[in-house]
Amino acid sequence: MAARIIDGKQVAADMRAELKVEVAKLKEDGIVPGLAVVLVGEDPASKSYVTAKERACEEIGIYSNDNRLPADTGQAELMALVDKLNKDPKINGILVQLPLPKHLDESEVLLAIDPAKDVDGFHPVNVGKMVVGEEAFLPCTPHGIIQLLVRSGVKIEGAEVVIVGRSNIVGKPIANMLIQKNDTGNATVTVCHTRTKNLAEHVRRADIIIAAAGRPNTVTADMVKEGAVVIDVGVNRVEDATKKRGYRLVGDVDFAAVSEKASLITPVPGGVGPMTITMLLFNTVASAKQAAARKG
Ligand code: NAP
Repeated sequence: MAARIIDGKQVAADMRAELKVEVAKLKEDGIVPGLAVVLVGEDPASKSYVTAKERACEEIGIYSNDNRLPADTGQAELMALVDKLNKDPKINGILVQLPLPKHLDESEVLLAIDPAKDVDGFHPVNVGKMVVGEEAFLPCTPHGIIQLLVRSGVKIEGAEVVIVGRSNIVGKPIANMLIQKNDTGNATVTVCHTRTKNLAEHVRRADIIIAAAGRPNTVTADMVKEGAVVIDVGVNRVEDATKKRGYRLVGDVDFAAVSEKASLITPVPGGVGPMTITMLLFNTVASAKQAAARKG
């Protein structure tokens, strides 16, 4: 059986269209959601992420506030900017593009962001709220994965989920979200990593596989149960002389072979990737609504 493809671009486009309508309604009430993006230095990948985020904001009517600082910016200057953005009522979300240049203290900067504007969901206050099941800004990539599952009609409750990877931005938060006692949780979750004994044995049990290892072919067809749902988070460059740029992007899953066994599968690119920015927009709109409610 060939798997049905989960079209992340389409799901992201649907969500952005919904958000656009919501933003237009908020504007009628004088509320304009605002996202501040902070980029330090000239890293080309970071620059292109930031540009994509700003473009996505414009598309749906979110005010985007661009803060590009030179690579030699000092800690005090960056902290002062975060403080200014925390106090700015036009700003509902603050995104500091990571990684920061090595001389800067990343965790001090992230801790300084007002948790009410932490639309990346990385502040320990939001992480803590997520873990105990309180309302919080959920980190964008795992939140996007939940949306892909829900909008593809996948039953999460009672499912056996195996996650490959335990990073703070993907593996740990998605595991936490899926064990919550709520509509998008109630799964039974196993988290695997490089010290896991017999990865294949764990993955083979899964109704839903979430691969976030950052290595091509971490999940191969022999590890996949017939009919499993496969979410491939990995983004890896592999050499490809047939491409102009000399490489192509692949996920962590052997897509061609696994597609023959899975019931649903996300491609790379075009699966999880488009959802990450979409959930950033979602969190920014949610933050603007919360700020308006606080003002009364
Ligand atoms: P990371 O911080 O490098 O974490 C990778 C995790 O995978 C670690 O926990 C590691 O285990 C585990 N791992 C690596 N190789 C393994 C193997 N052979 N068997 C079992 N576990 C293994 O990576 P990340 O930031 O979570 O990102 C993971 C991938 O997702 C990357 O390719 C990244 O580019 C991609 N990503 C995509 C998006 C998107 O929007 N599409 C967003 C975020 C990340 P240890 O802890 O034991 O080292």
